[in-house]
Amino acid sequence: MSRVGEFDIIRDYFAGAPTSQSVELGIGDDCALLQPPPGSILATSVDTLVAGRHFPEGADAAKVASRALRVNLSDLAAMGAKPLWFTLALTLPSADRKWLERFSRGLLETAREYGISLVGGDTTAGPLSITVQVTGHAQKPLRRDGAGAGDAVYVSGPLGAAAAALPVVLGETKVDSELRQAAEAAFYWPEPQLQLAQSIAPLATAAIDISDGLLADLGHICRASGVSAELDIEALPVAALARELAPEQARELAATGGDDYQLCFTVPKGDVPELERMNTGAVRIGTLIPASGEPQVLARRHGQSWTPKHPGYQHF
Ligand code: ADP
Ligand code: MG
Repeated sequence: MSRVGEFDIIRDYFAGAPTSQSVELGIGDDCALLQPPPGSILATSVDTLVAGRHFPEGADAAKVASRALRVNLSDLAAMGAKPLWFTLALTLPSADRKWLERFSRGLLETAREYGISLVGGDTTAGPLSITVQVTGHAQKPLRRDGAGAGDAVYVSGPLGAAAAALPVVLGETKVDSELRQAAEAAFYWPEPQLQLAQSIAPLATAAIDISDGLLADLGHICRASGVSAELDIEALPVAALARELAPEQARELAATGGDDYQLCFTVPKGDVPELERMNTGAVRIGTLIPASGEPQVLARRHGQSWTPKHPGYQHF
């Protein structure tokens, strides 16, 4: 391991990051100078990943970097926003060139893939932690509080894969190398639903990305919007990987597992035919109803009220 200073790190690994037209001045000065698209509303969000808490200590730096950016991009998607810029605050126990090389490669490859520019950051010494702040712009922001009774509830794609993958990623469950790769992909490379968000934005009344589990995250829409939800557990699209890794628990993981970063969104009843015509791949999983008392998510399976066996499922 060769030791290098803060300015070497910035120069060697981050300062060359490609930027876009909207960046008047990127890395190198006291601030970045940014030009938002005319008339746009900016959406901004920040997330910190701590080693040993949000990812395993020895995890591949390229994967960790990609995940850090992807989960932030997912927040932009959940807001109906398109990516513009991000900043990176890195706390490193040591300046390990191998680690930094993999980290910056994973980060900048992901940035290129999603068209987002690294415009600044901060580099300090301490226990490994990674903070990414993203900014995007929205035509019609998708808030959590816009849903109404009668709206249909949709999910953008299969659920449960990341939760089923977690014991494999953590090394608690041993599987063959093909399955292990699939598990790592589900955990480290969630697909932020940016395109889907753009196509549903004109119709959707509320949206959220599923980071803590469908039941919990749909609950946030319900509380913010003052409505309850009837959820059909049988209608949930269950990820094939979840069925393979945890056949007994797959449906429960789809309902309660986190980290898939699919979107849950709502559409007025009258717009359901138009949404279905768009063939987005989103699946209808329930309906919003007036709340009697506290807003809540009422899950049903085969017509019976359903509660998860492990409601407090906590990863990490
Ligand atoms: P200051 O002391 O003025 O805050 P720094 O010395 O922290 O400036 O950073 C110098 C430049 O490098 C700034 O433009 C900052 O945004 C950028 N920078 C620092 N760390 C990173 C990083 N990890 N990734 C990207 N840019 C960084
Ligand atoms: Mg600084």
